[in-house]
Amino acid sequence: MTDSGLLPPDNVETVFRRLSEAMPGRSERAKGPKGQPDAFRSCISCMLSAQSLDSNTAKASRALFALAQTPTGMLALSDAEIIDAIRPAGLYNNKARAIRRFCRQLLDEHDGVVPDTRKGLLAMHGIGRKCADIVLSFTFGHDAIAVDTHVGRVCRRIGLARGPTEAKIAEVLDERAPGWAKEEGHFWLIQLGKRICKSRRPQCGRCPVGDLCQYHAGEGASDG
Ligand code: SF4
Repeated sequence: MTDSGLLPPDNVETVFRRLSEAMPGRSERAKGPKGQPDAFRSCISCMLSAQSLDSNTAKASRALFALAQTPTGMLALSDAEIIDAIRPAGLYNNKARAIRRFCRQLLDEHDGVVPDTRKGLLAMHGIGRKCADIVLSFTFGHDAIAVDTHVGRVCRRIGLARGPTEAKIAEVLDERAPGWAKEEGHFWLIQLGKRICKSRRPQCGRCPVGDLCQYHAGEGASDG
């Protein structure tokens, strides 16, 4: 272990190397969790996805984009129209307000064009680290490891990165992951989390990084 309690850099490199061999990477079918065709719709879908199942987010996105697909079109809708459309995603009052503010800011500060940098995205109303990295990676094709619940859990267990929030884990991971692993790292980690390092019962016996993992070694790694 390092002084920080995280996996040493050489082992981080080995973990990514092994995952790149054992787990599927970015595929043609990987359209991003929200599967949207442009940056504006990706941002809105990502905002809708907060605390919502993927199926409900998809329903809400479909209903909303059937009414409007641009910031100007979105702002022309009434509150009631937006709320009715996005109701399946839950938290609809807050989300409707956030969508309006995002669209207004996009028009006022960016001529309606979604910025393609992390800094620019994070400055947008309603866009947090996960949405920013998802849009950067899936829509703009930049190297960014988006950290969702699966990726966060795997990172904490192995000792790749830790932090009180997924945003902090993403920040630490970005510093520690080798550059060559950032294009597909999200896909390898998410697949490890879904297939092997499951939330309730991690299957350490068949894990490609079991000999390096701090959780498996019982080194006091937090599973939180
Ligand atoms: S060894 Fe176990 S806890 Fe560690 S990453 Fe693999 S499945 Fe998860």
